[in-house]
Amino acid sequence: MDYDEEKGWYDPRIVPYADLTLSPAATIFHYGQGVFEGLKAYNSENGNVNLFRPDMNAKRSNRSSDRLCIPEIPEEDYIQAIEQLVALDKDWIPSEPDHSLYIRPFIIGTDPFLGLKTSRYYQFIIILSPVGPYYPEGLDPVSIWIEDDYVRAVRGGIGEAKTGGNYAASILSQVKAHDEGYSQVLWLDGVERKYIEEVGAMNIFFKIGGKVVTPKLNGSILPGITRDSVIQLCKEWGYEVEEKRISIDEIYEAHKAGILEEVWGTGTAAVISPVGKLRWGDEIMQVKDGGIGELSHKLYDTVSGIQLGKIEDTHGWIVEIK
Ligand code: PMP
Repeated sequence: MDYDEEKGWYDPRIVPYADLTLSPAATIFHYGQGVFEGLKAYNSENGNVNLFRPDMNAKRSNRSSDRLCIPEIPEEDYIQAIEQLVALDKDWIPSEPDHSLYIRPFIIGTDPFLGLKTSRYYQFIIILSPVGPYYPEGLDPVSIWIEDDYVRAVRGGIGEAKTGGNYAASILSQVKAHDEGYSQVLWLDGVERKYIEEVGAMNIFFKIGGKVVTPKLNGSILPGITRDSVIQLCKEWGYEVEEKRISIDEIYEAHKAGILEEVWGTGTAAVISPVGKLRWGDEIMQVKDGGIGELSHKLYDTVSGIQLGKIEDTHGWIVEIK
């Protein structure tokens, strides 16, 4: 679908996957004026195909667009575009267990103009790709590198938008963490560099002394859809859940006191990612001897169970594509 100032959004169409033709001066290449989303379509036990809370992706995309001066897309149109494309290509979801179809909607500024101003033209595109299970051999705890040198987002910046610039800012740390043998980077806040924000493509949770805590949304953290679902489930299961500023010292002290019971990340790709080890400067914090916590496991089974139609969806989170 295209946008120009006179017509608004126009000409929705489904075309075969192909390279794009864009001006080398297009806004997206030089100033990064673009936003994206990520969600999955799952084969359900009942033979339909499930989307998980696509309305949240539509809303978040519009919030990201607002931050980048990109025109909003009506939520119904956004969801309908995803539904129609998935309905057409649902046979692409491999029939093996835990495979799915990754859906990547994105909007880019295409104005062929090199001056720094908001684009007059945009394209909204959705591409699909079959994906295998995140954990082919069952849940596997990840190790996390706490980034001290660089920041991903700052107060008043673009951290809560799903836009390429945030990920560009994180590539160097990701490479560094991998070189050190860590699979994920945990970001601290960009002002005081002591409050925990999020992981590269996941939000983060801690279970400390029986209580679930997660960083409060503060404008520089992506409001994850899995995060929101996990908060709801934990509350329903009777856990006290606190969204607050969490300093890295607090985590270190909990670890020293032996009450850092579980740490896990949440995101569309892995659903729940148990964390076995955190490295902060010279300190290495092992979580539960590096194993998988009971609550992390239950959350993984529940959220993925709902997505795959194995567990009844009592929250109205699933949209079925017939
Ligand atoms: N934070 C970042 C930076 C992400 O890229 C993602 C993945 N979209 C998340 C958190 C988790 O969000 P969600 O649960 O909506 O996938």
